[in-house]
Amino acid sequence: MHKKLFIPGPVDVRPDVLQKMADPMISHRGKAATALQKSISEKLRKVFQTKNTIVLSTTSGSGLMESAIRCCTAKRAAVFSIGAFGDRWYKMAVSNNVPADKFRAEDGKATDPKDVDAALATGKYDLVTITHNETSVGIMNPVEEIAKVIKKYPDVIFCMDTVSSMGGTDIPVDELGVDFCITSTQKCLGLPPGMSIASVSQRAYERAKTVPYRGLYLDIVEIVDKVVVDDKYQYPSTPSLSHMFALDYQLSLIMEEGLENRFARHIEMAKVVREWAKKYFALFSDERYLSNTLTTIANTRGINVGDLNKKLAEYGYEISNGYGALKEKTFRIAHMADMDMDTLQGLLRKIEEILGL
Ligand SMILES: *Cc1c(COP(=O)(O)O)cnc(C)c1O
Repeated sequence: MHKKLFIPGPVDVRPDVLQKMADPMISHRGKAATALQKSISEKLRKVFQTKNTIVLSTTSGSGLMESAIRCCTAKRAAVFSIGAFGDRWYKMAVSNNVPADKFRAEDGKATDPKDVDAALATGKYDLVTITHNETSVGIMNPVEEIAKVIKKYPDVIFCMDTVSSMGGTDIPVDELGVDFCITSTQKCLGLPPGMSIASVSQRAYERAKTVPYRGLYLDIVEIVDKVVVDDKYQYPSTPSLSHMFALDYQLSLIMEEGLENRFARHIEMAKVVREWAKKYFALFSDERYLSNTLTTIANTRGINVGDLNKKLAEYGYEISNGYGALKEKTFRIAHMADMDMDTLQGLLRKIEEILGL
């Protein structure tokens, strides 16, 4: 039996979108591939609310995160982490010999714009990374205020991880001034895992050109050049064409739903899960900055999440335990991509029944 996924990626994919993955191959150097990538880029520009170049990478989100910090740091990176995925960005810097410092908030807390200001004011950094939506703790950072601070430092490249939020909530990339904004297919966009997407500003591209060792497969200069030179909309190596077929189709469905409606649907679902969590458990994270795409619930009843999931599996549902050290202290319910309220309510009622709440 297929289990309905309430885990924060991969998410359930609509059957007709899955079917698009089975379309026959085309030449990745032909006109059809260019038209396909152009069509995808134009729709993604609307989702990202940006005029910047859209790039695709046949990697998961981590691929372009590593590309961003490696290719665009000339001096030193300031990595603001509020959980596991921010920590990972710092690790990527260290493993690539990119000078970096990590500024880590306590689990459940957001990035404080004052801390960003204090770090950047030292003049030590020329790149900053921010996690928009930290999937381990269910926090959505106050990026408007953070962006205001970063704008005071025009030499700093602003990179943002929107892997678990782009397509599920309003992220006006250009208004915020994000230079390198990264997401992947298997979360709010509602596709199978395997492709990473980013918007890249001219500033980020110019910076990367000054960095001597950028690797090759994830070199953002190579990737951008293949898109922009002669408006080619191509890709340096062979991309996952199957993902591109499905992505183009799914983006049309997203446009049909309407971005406003899609964001509103995510917020409605988030509200229901938060209320439910407060009634039977407690919210783990700072209530001022809760995520619209997933909820991290404090396990105040000391339930065994593994056992709960085993029972839920019998009814065709799967939720997520806490991430890393939060494994038994929390559990997580994702409400992203094409999830609907009825299915979500079905899950919550089933949990109540199993736990005798
Ligand atoms: C899932 C996730 C990632 C990692 O993305 P992959 O596509 O698995 O490489 C990074 N950041 C956040 C916030 C995530 O939720």
